[in-house]
Amino acid sequence: MNGVCQSGRNSSKKRGVDMEYRVLGRTGIKVSSISIGGEGFENKSYEKCEEILDTAFKEGVNFIDLYNSNPTVRSHVGKALQKYPRGSFVIEGHLCSTWDNGQYRRTREIHEVVKAFEDFLTRMQIAYVDVGMIHYVDDQKDFDAIFEGEIINYAKDLKAQGIIKSIGISTHNADIAFKAVETGVIDVILFSINAAYDMLPASEDVNILFDEKTFKNRTYEGIDLKRDKLYHTCENAGVALTVMKGYGAGVLLNDKESPFERALSPVQCLHYCLTRPAVAAVMVGVANPEQVLAATAYSSAADEEKDYSEILANAPKSSFNGHCMYCGHCAPCSKKIDIAMVNKYLDLALIQEEVPETLKDHYALLEHHANECIECGACMKNCPFNVEIIHKMKQAVQVFGK
Ligand code: SF4
Ligand code: SF4
Repeated sequence: MNGVCQSGRNSSKKRGVDMEYRVLGRTGIKVSSISIGGEGFENKSYEKCEEILDTAFKEGVNFIDLYNSNPTVRSHVGKALQKYPRGSFVIEGHLCSTWDNGQYRRTREIHEVVKAFEDFLTRMQIAYVDVGMIHYVDDQKDFDAIFEGEIINYAKDLKAQGIIKSIGISTHNADIAFKAVETGVIDVILFSINAAYDMLPASEDVNILFDEKTFKNRTYEGIDLKRDKLYHTCENAGVALTVMKGYGAGVLLNDKESPFERALSPVQCLHYCLTRPAVAAVMVGVANPEQVLAATAYSSAADEEKDYSEILANAPKSSFNGHCMYCGHCAPCSKKIDIAMVNKYLDLALIQEEVPETLKDHYALLEHHANECIECGACMKNCPFNVEIIHKMKQAVQVFGK
């Protein structure tokens, strides 16, 4: 019933009790599936920042996204990290986030970009950043200017010098994310993912996602196909997704505000994100040690606690009908086929003109294949999303040959 182990990922237990570590796509870097974002460090004393960081690291978190340009935050986090060997943590640090007159500002002025990034390295007391994340690119013009101009060249130079190990981009816009994958130079995308956003059409206007009216008084048509395709495209390309807004800015945690008319727990929200293809880690905004622990509770949660399918499947105003969510509820199969995994490989294959050899290899390695299906229908009685599983098994045989 738990989420399927995504292809191309390793999971192992290291620091922390049960933390899962995943490979950050083609970078090969191993990161904790539950990781932390930078917003919780704002307006905190050094001691509070250290407390958050120490709690997270004790729980096995090894990955931090820092969009923050606030010099105090950078200095606090940098100081708190000093007791940990550099190789033991992974930093997603943002390019193009600058501090101006006591406030954060996004910039595309190259001299400001360089100055802000050098400040980041100095205050963080680190010689390199694992993911150099080009900050907040949501519209096409902005994207073109970055990829045809000095900013991408600066990022490439930093990578060539080993000062950043990989290049990322943060966006809320699926079209921009597709374009980023196409460039071939983007290794990681920080993307806003949760069950509520996945039901909205991909949009260039990020404010739609953040407007609470967006989720009121509408009927949802299930997962948006473009967003779904994006996740599969990233997985196929080896581009890792790191997740922001995993709790939908808190909307999903509230019975009244949730578009499903029932709150999801933090653990269910995290599980939704971590069962999307290509997702390596959810960067959770945590303001105190209790919020760290609420997030890392995911690692030791029982399958029943993680399970979000009942809430999504029964939501009065939404429909995920017919779409495989890889939740694994259909098990057990009479012939021991891992149906969720077969469906996932099939979906990955169906969005491409030609099935890549790597995908064929992954499929071949499954212990049981779709051609073993005896059409008993047992699985279909268990699927909360009414997926035509027998049809999917036949399709898989056509695509993979067995
Ligand atoms: S077929 Fe249904 S039960 Fe099985 S993984 Fe897909 S959505 Fe879940
Ligand atoms: S219909 Fe096929 S896939 Fe489903 S339980 Fe039976 S054998 Fe397994």
